[in-house]
Amino acid sequence: MYKTLTGREPAEAILSDAKRRAQALGRSAGLAIVLVGSDPASELYVKKKLEKAASAGVNARLEKLPETATESEVLRLVKSLNRDTSIDGFIVQAPLPKQIDPIRVLEAIEPGKDVDGWTSANLGKLAAGMADALLPATPLGVMKMLEFHGAELRGKHAVVIGRSNVVGKPLALLLLAKDATVTICHSKTQNLAQHTKSADILIAAAGVPNLVKADMVKSGAFVIDVGTTRVGGKTQGDVDFPAVIKKANCSPVPGGVGPLTVAILISNVIEAASRRP
Ligand code: NAD
Repeated sequence: MYKTLTGREPAEAILSDAKRRAQALGRSAGLAIVLVGSDPASELYVKKKLEKAASAGVNARLEKLPETATESEVLRLVKSLNRDTSIDGFIVQAPLPKQIDPIRVLEAIEPGKDVDGWTSANLGKLAAGMADALLPATPLGVMKMLEFHGAELRGKHAVVIGRSNVVGKPLALLLLAKDATVTICHSKTQNLAQHTKSADILIAAAGVPNLVKADMVKSGAFVIDVGTTRVGGKTQGDVDFPAVIKKANCSPVPGGVGPLTVAILISNVIEAASRRP
């Protein structure tokens, strides 16, 4: 009776729109992905991104550095990608090895090529409501998911669990821009259930498996599970999906937000390419 909010269909719609815009460019857009080290999960995500980009007609290449790379080496690569005219946008895959300061690396990315939308320049533009921000992929993916599945946002109570710079905070701003009344919860929030129970839209982005149980969810709500935690070789979300789907619309993990994140990244590359002189 309640909808399983799958990501595949909205992701396909975003990708086919990106392909159409790519054709209008009259040239191939260029994407680079910087991967430092060989974390198996990161390698898998990067492979998926490169494959999808190639299938959308984007010239995508991997820039790999060893686990032992220094911050200066990563910064040198970032600066060369900033100058590289064949590259319209690039990302530095997180997480970085601990000897490297992720903020320093992120802030070295030219904002016009920041297709993850993680630099302070793009996050600032988002906060200021400026239309030329490159928006972060996962939060925008969640918005596209809600739109695709017909969730109404105006005047509704949206609760976001998680306040990271890459998911929770930008998502709260995007929901606010669509006239939702937004509550942000985090690890120090007292009585989480009291907040989540009144949510018409509930977004779980904590990275804590099974954090959201059915008795924490309002009947008929839209619940989007952003969490991805590897448990015993499987990826688990933050939501107890089998129980929650009996009383609310809910996205699965895997097969929910993940495909949208990749599709938005590619859409951002085409957007960045179309803005270049
Ligand atoms: P993060 O660790 O930076 O932030 C987690 C946030 O959750 C923090 O703000 C913390 O305060 C909050 N939190 C932690 N435990 C909590 C609890 N018990 N109750 C309430 N709040 C709690 O993580 P992130 O980068 O924002 O990512 C969040 C999750 O989303 C992770 O599982 C990550 O793997 C996943 N993710 C998935 C995609 C995707 O494409 N599907 C993309 C990005 C992130």
